[in-house]
Amino acid sequence: MNGIPAVHDAALPGHPGAVDWERVRADFPLLMREVHGHPLVYLDNANTSQKPLPVVASQDEFYRRHNANVSRAVHALGTEATEAYEASRARLARFLNVRADEVVLCSGTTFAINLVAYSWALPRLKEGDTILVSRMEHHANIVPWQLVAQRTGAKIKVAEILPDGSLDLDGLHRAMTPDVKLLAVAHVSNVLGTVNPVREICREARRRGIVTVVDGSQAAPHLKLDVAAIGCDFYAVTGHKMCGPTGTGALWARREHLESMPPFIGGGEMIKEVSFDGTVFNDPPHKFEAGTPNIAGFVGLGVAIDYLDAIGMDAIAAREAELLAHATEALQAIPGLRIFGTAPGKAAVISFLVEGAHAHDLATLLDLEGVAVRSGQHCAHPLLQYYGVAATLRASLAFYNTHEEIDRFVAALEKTRRLLA
Ligand code: PMP
Repeated sequence: MNGIPAVHDAALPGHPGAVDWERVRADFPLLMREVHGHPLVYLDNANTSQKPLPVVASQDEFYRRHNANVSRAVHALGTEATEAYEASRARLARFLNVRADEVVLCSGTTFAINLVAYSWALPRLKEGDTILVSRMEHHANIVPWQLVAQRTGAKIKVAEILPDGSLDLDGLHRAMTPDVKLLAVAHVSNVLGTVNPVREICREARRRGIVTVVDGSQAAPHLKLDVAAIGCDFYAVTGHKMCGPTGTGALWARREHLESMPPFIGGGEMIKEVSFDGTVFNDPPHKFEAGTPNIAGFVGLGVAIDYLDAIGMDAIAAREAELLAHATEALQAIPGLRIFGTAPGKAAVISFLVEGAHAHDLATLLDLEGVAVRSGQHCAHPLLQYYGVAATLRASLAFYNTHEEIDRFVAALEKTRRLLA
């Protein structure tokens, strides 16, 4: 498509071997702004990531030069928009190492999991069946299953965690009883940073005929993914955590599931033929993409994936591990600070509390110092119930953060802690 590839190529960091992280950071204009008179320290990346210039530029470029609806028009713009949209599907498929015709583009993980819940689970599950979910799931991987359970009579069973925030794998395997039809598990916890051994988990589930749904929201931005090797049945990702625009994401599903699942949402784009006698649906994945999608958003997501790949997911993971080690060590030196989630090999998410200070108060005071962290329950009430706390603070790092930012965050935390003491 004219224009967009030029944007792709324009400002890629592309440093095979050593990455120039300062130059990478310069691609994120938002990180240069001030908040309350202080340089911004953005540590809420698990909530949403910031967007590099090529992604920002792709939105401008798309609306300036290529905007048209997809799959409907034969005119040049329509063709360009459709090609760009489909190119992003193919790009995402390569990133995940799956087939493009198994990738359903949708608004994000929440939609993706609901699609599995309504199209796969609802018609199949019945009383006596069980849906197994882990304690550390985001609400997006709990509530859809509760809705299915309510309507089918199926039960929800919880796979527990260990105090360090890792999954109790023995318990999980024991919980895979014959009544369990579906297992829903996060690849990476958005609160604890735990990286679950999803390959092993899915292998065990598959041996028992259990269908697996892996929530990859927090894995895709930080790890080199090979979804085919994981061996799950469904894998969900969300684009806005991967440096892409909001309102973009995908569900990968095995072709046999997509073939057998009824459509979730009906409308234009997802049909071959409609009459008042009935409708012939389009082939998957289009069968699940009714209506006009977030075309510009997906073009931007394709650019974001190019951007991540140009840096290299292995380099990103290594950089974040280094930042995590620094931040963990610095935080541990603060008296009365408790970290939730210390599983080996965890991702760069640090949930914590400081004795004697409320999480929201600390977050508000940190904001006044220019430091953006999240406080609250992180859409994971059952997990916080396990730890018996009402809220935590969460600092979540990305490759574009710096050691100096971590020092400023820790210094601001020390200052605010003393204020509240
Ligand atoms: N699962 C996890 C683990 C998440 O962190 C999030 C986002 N916080 C979601 C699901 C939901 O993603 P979205 O809101 O983009 O649909």
